[in-house]
Amino acid sequence: MDRLKRESYGKINLMLNIAGVREDGYHTLETVMQTVGLYDTIEIVKKAEKGITMHCDLPYVPSDERNIAWKAADKFIAHTGFDGGLDITIQKTIPVGGGMAGGSTNAATVLNMLNEMCGMPIRDPELEAIALSLGADVPFCLKKGTYLCEGIGEIMTRLADMPKCFIVVCKPRASVSSKNAYGVYDQYPNQQHFDHTRMVQALRNRDIRAIAAAMGNSFEAPIGELCPEILEIKAKMLQMGALNAAMTGSGSVVFGLFDNVDLAHKTKNALRAERYRTFCVRPVNR
Ligand code: ATP
Repeated sequence: MDRLKRESYGKINLMLNIAGVREDGYHTLETVMQTVGLYDTIEIVKKAEKGITMHCDLPYVPSDERNIAWKAADKFIAHTGFDGGLDITIQKTIPVGGGMAGGSTNAATVLNMLNEMCGMPIRDPELEAIALSLGADVPFCLKKGTYLCEGIGEIMTRLADMPKCFIVVCKPRASVSSKNAYGVYDQYPNQQHFDHTRMVQALRNRDIRAIAAAMGNSFEAPIGELCPEILEIKAKMLQMGALNAAMTGSGSVVFGLFDNVDLAHKTKNALRAERYRTFCVRPVNR
């Protein structure tokens, strides 16, 4: 197989709780992640000349060794001794710096694609270890679906699939760097905590209203204070009939959960009229 094209899906955090800080300074999380139907497209072509070349349709995303998908390909080559070359093309749709794991999912997709193209030389546990060395969200992106992720992303528990619903995803004009978000959270006086067991139970019961009620994100208040658009978009979604709305990851994307497709599309259109990049998507199960 010398050429392969795949979709690379983004995620939302249905809930995210910052549980603590380890001695080495890493924050530990309890977060329920859900793959959603918003995706980039990645094409990989094997070539005779050694080395990696990359093309990305967004000029502000690096298309060299700084790109996390490049790093993933580089690690794959180092682990397998693959001795050809690779040409990787990425078409971005997932908002960059939005907390939807845009980079992480590209890295995971490249690992899965290269393993498939080379006859599966790397087994799952090793692939997951390579993924974790690239970033905390990458192991989840390898698997997709609905997972409780704890620790620094390395403890993953598969959860019941999310029931049918509609998710409106809206990117504020501002982007947030994940690294800065932890610093902002640490300085915030009114830190909030959320209980992941409520979300796990709500998913098990396939109860969309209980899922909505269990949403929450420890980053939302501190990041929302810096970036009021986040809270404005959330308020608009709630006013237009979302069951609930929250920020995803460390921001800045806001998502609203709907059980009614018409309300979801009306909300998407209203936010687009305010010139926000907005999509209406479904959960993607494993
Ligand atoms: P996360 O949800 O994992 O915290 P994010 O969605 O907030 O991530 P990304 O979209 O992954 O953030 O982008 C963060 C930074 O990574 C940007 O500065 C971007 O230039 C850089 N980057 C490197 N590789 C990629 C890639 N393949 N796709 C998107 N951004 C990338």
